[in-house]
Amino acid sequence: MPIATVNPTTGETLETFEPLGHDGLELRLARAEAAFREYRTVGFEFRSELLRRAAGVFETEQEQLARTVTTEMGKPLGQARAEAAKCAKALRWYADHGAALIADELPGEEDVADSGAVAALVRYRPLGAVLAVMPWNFPLWQVIRFAAPALMAGNVCLLKHASNVPRTALALEELFWRAGAPEGCFQTLLIDSSAVEGVIRDRRVAAVTLTGSEGAGRSVAAVAGDALKKTVLELGGSDPFIVLPSADLQAAVRTAVRARTQNNGQSCIAAKRFIVHTDVYPWFAAAFAQEMRALRIGDPLDPETEIGPLATRQGRDDLAALVSDALAHGATAEAGGLRTNGSTDPVDGAGWYYPPTVLTKVTPAMRIHHEEAFGPVATLYRVNSLDEAIEVANDSPYGLSSNVWTNDPAERDRCIRDLDAGGVFFNGMTASHPALPFGGVKRSGYGRELAGHGIREFCNATTVWVGQS
Ligand code: NAP
Repeated sequence: MPIATVNPTTGETLETFEPLGHDGLELRLARAEAAFREYRTVGFEFRSELLRRAAGVFETEQEQLARTVTTEMGKPLGQARAEAAKCAKALRWYADHGAALIADELPGEEDVADSGAVAALVRYRPLGAVLAVMPWNFPLWQVIRFAAPALMAGNVCLLKHASNVPRTALALEELFWRAGAPEGCFQTLLIDSSAVEGVIRDRRVAAVTLTGSEGAGRSVAAVAGDALKKTVLELGGSDPFIVLPSADLQAAVRTAVRARTQNNGQSCIAAKRFIVHTDVYPWFAAAFAQEMRALRIGDPLDPETEIGPLATRQGRDDLAALVSDALAHGATAEAGGLRTNGSTDPVDGAGWYYPPTVLTKVTPAMRIHHEEAFGPVATLYRVNSLDEAIEVANDSPYGLSSNVWTNDPAERDRCIRDLDAGGVFFNGMTASHPALPFGGVKRSGYGRELAGHGIREFCNATTVWVGQS
């Protein structure tokens, strides 16, 4: 894919960028190595201050950053502003808590004596330069949720951002520069995905984290595995949203619509499969389809807009193909789907729009039953019991998060025990928070971001043992 800013609202190419050549890449890798030599030795106070200053820049430049994001990938402007604010919050959270999360761990006195030592501890030391291969859908947040803990731990960051968000990628590099990051601590590499392998194999790169699709995860993990380098993978998801009879149904419908359509439906943790108990199915299905139909589609810079265009033409076409396949195999579109003239553009002529869509009568014979729908398309399933709901929920190759609407404590325990996912959110939608670990199981990836789990992923847990002298 060429590295370019293409406005998804109009399809217009606004700017193209030359990928880094050999010399440019070499310069940045050398800078990262030199930066790590120094940065690993600076104290937590220095790093906290850097993170706080970066948070300040996110706040003072929120509007400009948000407009850059919306212009490059099409999310409604209010959501882009909220994303910038969330980055500031995470930077401050790690500035406040990072040092404690990776403070020395002291084993019990008896265990120390039993090991034959007079003293023993575990010290968390940084690994080095960490390559972050990132997606376009939350182009600020995905980067910061990796960079805040990585920088706090003393690592340095190399960002290979998605090819369609180069302005955002460069803005992030500049933001850290203006926040006073030492040269080489945070660098953007404008490179094509074919150049990622060489960077992973470079001896100056210690580890790699990737947020993106399954295919990208597989190739990055294969190269990193061959080079014996640590990886964290945050991949796709097709999260279930289970609604049981004891739920507050109105709240469930409102949240279901938001969970499916935030970020124009392009979120890994968006609820995608709605699994509803037969006792409440008719009411839920009708209300959900009606609210999906009522969403305001339009220019994402317009404050009234709830659904903007999808980020890329390819993404829109892939989604349309998934829906067409379902309809061809007997699904029914209760909202959206193909228009009678075959067009999926709700606004004439321009932009990569796709109408909010609700599909029923979905069966395992359809691709959408197993694949991730990365856009505002929901599938509805009718089930007769909690057992059946869990069975349908787990019938997916993915296991990122899950949502369950119930007020029955026994049903909650059952879901925590049996849902194959990295999270279970009750009576609400999945959202990330700096204090809570984030990540999945199955083909949604491995490793965790955020909280203490995230900061320790790129640390060397060093055993220190002191014998009697
Ligand atoms: P993508 O095509 O996999 O791209 C993600 C990043 O990987 C981009 O920087 C891309 O670079 C790079 N890339 C692609 N193929 C690669 C390869 N073979 N080797 C090395 N790098 C490669 O994903 P996307 O379409 O941008 O993002 C949507 C996907 O990300 C969805 O599946 C979504 O669920 C997932 N996602 C997961 C999370 C999570 O936390 N679990 C969060 C957000 C998104 P180019 O742009 O240059 O191709």
